Amino acid sequence: MRYDVAIIGTGPAAISAALTLKLHNKTILWFGSKKLSPKVELSERIANYPGVAMVTGPELNRLYREQIEQAGLEITERQVTNIASTRRGFMLQGGDEIYDAKTVLLCTGAVSPKGFPGEAELLGHGVSYCATCDGFLYPGKTIAVYCGAKEFEHEAEYLAEIAAKVYLFTPYADCGVKRENVILNPGKIRAILGDSAAEGVELQDGTRLDVDGVFVIRPAVAPGRLLRGLEIDGANIVVNRRMETNKPGCYAAGDCTGRPYQLAKAVGEGNVAAHSIVEYLSQLECK
Ligand SMILES: Cc1cc2nc3c(=O)[nH]c(=O)nc-3n(C[C@H](O)[C@H](O)[C@H](O)COP(=O)(O)OP(=O)(O)OC[C@H]3O[C@@H](n4cnc5c(N)ncnc54)[C@H](O)[C@@H]3O)c2cc1C
Repeated sequence: MRYDVAIIGTGPAAISAALTLKLHNKTILWFGSKKLSPKVELSERIANYPGVAMVTGPELNRLYREQIEQAGLEITERQVTNIASTRRGFMLQGGDEIYDAKTVLLCTGAVSPKGFPGEAELLGHGVSYCATCDGFLYPGKTIAVYCGAKEFEHEAEYLAEIAAKVYLFTPYADCGVKRENVILNPGKIRAILGDSAAEGVELQDGTRLDVDGVFVIRPAVAPGRLLRGLEIDGANIVVNRRMETNKPGCYAAGDCTGRPYQLAKAVGEGNVAAHSIVEYLSQLECK
């Protein structure tokens, strides 16, 4: 199916856009988590959001969930790891599936553009963001896996079932992956090594570990690596007042476009983006 719009992220910016696009009867493919925004969930008290005085973050997320359900919106619980612009619109990779959409709305929240040195250059050449898509390439091989959050440990487990040996790196303590072929935190990654393909990782102490592939699993992929050619300023996606990016048919809203990092701004931008998308789609139909 070719959707009218693919929305990436399930924070306030995306929710606002999804509600408006649904009212305009657009077909929506919405990627993220049914738990919605972890940032909202963390807020103890939200004092500057109109209409819900002194609401807690978890309470606001509960209200959002109710509204999403009432609107009949569905969330596809997948992380988008790659977007490619095509002549007809966009192809998106979510897990091991490829999806097709006429437009894309990026509501990914603020994501650090920093990766490991070598990561961006070797992405697709031995560096992967997706265990289910590329894990099958490494039966009996040695791989390095960076697992950026506990919630992705099942991906590391899956890779350890396939590969012969796994160097597993976690930025947190008490990793739950315990297998004989997993060497947990042999150090901290300084860089990913290789000229035309990933061949190893260099650790902070200068040690080199030879590997056949490197998996980097983080809660979010920096927008510049998600969609090649997307104009970025520092960590922010460059947009105009219509929330258009430099890629025709691709829009962005919320924290990912820059400060202030505030709910009201995210919700407002999501609404503007939705209206711009509706207009863009009607122009496409006229062509
Ligand atoms: C502790 C704390 C307290 C705060 N208090 C307030 C406050 O009182 N008032 C206020 O106005 N603001 C407050 N904020 C800021 C507010 O939460 C943010 O401005 C707001 O959540 C931004 O919304 P967003 O939709 O742009 O992004 P986010 O809420 O960050 O949501 C982005 C979502 O996109 C998902 N995502 C990212 N990449 C992908 C991908 N590739 N595939 C699928 N999903 C993806 C993320 O997992 C996340 O769920 C607070 C923030 C924090 C952290």
